[in-house]
Amino acid sequence: MKRLIKHSEITGVLLVQTGLRIGAGGSSLEIGGLDNPILRHPTTRLPYVPGSSLKGKLRSLLEVNQYTIGSFKKPMATVGPCGCGACVVCRLFGCGEVRNANEPSRLIFRDCKMLPETVKELRPLLSDGVFYSEVKAEVTMDRTSGKVGQAGPRSMDRIASGAKLDFRVTIRILDGDVESDFKKTMAHALRLLEAEGLGGSVSRGYGQVSFEDLKWDGQSWDIRTAATASP
Ligand SMILES: [Zn+2]
Repeated sequence: MKRLIKHSEITGVLLVQTGLRIGAGGSSLEIGGLDNPILRHPTTRLPYVPGSSLKGKLRSLLEVNQYTIGSFKKPMATVGPCGCGACVVCRLFGCGEVRNANEPSRLIFRDCKMLPETVKELRPLLSDGVFYSEVKAEVTMDRTSGKVGQAGPRSMDRIASGAKLDFRVTIRILDGDVESDFKKTMAHALRLLEAEGLGGSVSRGYGQVSFEDLKWDGQSWDIRTAATASP
């Protein structure tokens, strides 16, 4: 087992550019609520982005991208995360194959909570019955008749555009790790996320996000000028 040298930390603001939807699943019941509630903290009821969503999305973006540029060990046809245990994605995010998993994953994603300024901004909406989110009405059209489809109109709950969330990732640096490689790979991953989006329905305009005020271990970190990762 490799020795832990230190913990580094990425901090910053995840800015929601267009309504972001991470669904609460079918089992969540909202009293007088929406058809499609988003994930909320159980006691504060404030919407948040779970670390697991970010982790999964960033990993898949990196894997798809690496395959596209031809350096990836596993064909995309085999669905699921890489399990080689040796590439930078396996080291950072964890190895998808138990028999090759001989090191701990380096990344620890925290849930992204709303910053106090956003909570304050959205508070006035409470009087309109909107609980720290934005509600988007959608209709499905019947293609033949051009009328509203049988499903009727539905309301989609989303983290409001303009919302600012606390973004935080801890990175374990183990003996032999090259921190600058991790830094390049993460810069690459965060840029891919900005290019694609997060959460549901990104192909329909949802979930465009960007990062502000990023720091790597307290030092200002510009992911746009960081060298392209070549794991
Ligand atoms: Zn791998």
